[in-house]
Amino acid sequence: MNGVAAIAKGMATTLKVLFRKPVTVDYPYVKRPRAPRFRGRHELRTYENGLEMCVGCELCQVACPAAAITVQAAENDPDNPHSPGERYGYKYQVDLLRCIFCGMCEEACPTDCLHLTQEFELADFTRESLILQKEQLVNRNPSGFKVPMNVYPPFRRKAVNA
Ligand code: SF4
Ligand code: SF4
Repeated sequence: MNGVAAIAKGMATTLKVLFRKPVTVDYPYVKRPRAPRFRGRHELRTYENGLEMCVGCELCQVACPAAAITVQAAENDPDNPHSPGERYGYKYQVDLLRCIFCGMCEEACPTDCLHLTQEFELADFTRESLILQKEQLVNRNPSGFKVPMNVYPPFRRKAVNA
């Protein structure tokens, strides 16, 4: 193929794709929708009345194959409970440096309070900032999911003790 033919062939290829719809998007200004089952950053859901759904059972910690979750439970004050259960998650940490987003913790949670959201932009500058504390997980609600209080009946500590 001589030079002119090669240039013509190259130009033809250019013209062929010039008016095609681009396959890329202008990220981060445009974001493609994630798959419905995409697993991203964790959130701890709350009931509509503000009570935490987490009852501090630690099953998510046990189920995690990467040892990315740390839960410490504490007894609820019956007069000022954090959750409808006997206990609540006093300390709750998710180490995003260890997490492989497998979803086992979500599967293990008996109250469905632990949810992996569609949020995927998790990069940060320090290792400490990638260990999420409870305050960063509870009530953040990036998924906008609300759980009506009647899904799980409130635990009546006084009635049980009576
Ligand atoms: S998604 Fe998997 S690796 Fe990440 S915290 Fe949950 S169980 Fe552990
Ligand atoms: S998030 Fe779910 S599994 Fe983990 S401690 Fe709370 S209630 Fe238990």
